[in-house]
Amino acid sequence: MPASAGPEIERLIGLLAKLPGMGPRSARRATLALLKRRDQLLTPLSQALAEAAEKVRPCSVCGALDTSDPCAVCADRTRDTGLICVVEEVGALWAMERAGAFRGRYHVLGGVLSALDGVGPEALRVGELVARASDGEVREVILALPATVDGQTTAHYLAERLASSGVQVTSLARGVPVGGELDWLDDGTIAQALRARRPA
Ligand SMILES: [Zn+2]
Repeated sequence: MPASAGPEIERLIGLLAKLPGMGPRSARRATLALLKRRDQLLTPLSQALAEAAEKVRPCSVCGALDTSDPCAVCADRTRDTGLICVVEEVGALWAMERAGAFRGRYHVLGGVLSALDGVGPEALRVGELVARASDGEVREVILALPATVDGQTTAHYLAERLASSGVQVTSLARGVPVGGELDWLDDGTIAQALRARRPA
């Protein structure tokens, strides 16, 4: 099949199509939008990509992505160094920061244990977490892992590994979301919310 655009444009479409949520069709639309709006989109985007490629690195302490190492969160002296929140990926860290309710520090695991995908503890930043939890300053490790089988398997594993460090290990509560109506919730969420009930 002959390429419908030139090789440079096809290469751009091919790369964009590899992004999450994109397919060949949306990649073609995005490419066209970029090429049509050279000054507003194409040039600033290419500069932002080059800058990110050059400057963004994983934080050597928590594994978050930032232009400085340690990252802005780890370097922030107003944050509580006694609290570590463990998340699967950087996206979950960003979600926690958007909520603005947590003033401790993070540990990005880099995934969850998965027998199916062959992900073992050595593929994750588990050793680093145990070392951080044993530094004498940390009081509590909060496990904010996905409510999936793999996420919960990982949480159990981490709780066991952290037991000897003497820190308190907690996990996020599960239950009725803010603004959630019971009619719309799945049975598992309702059952969890009922088990985790507290005095009104
Ligand atoms: Zn950090």
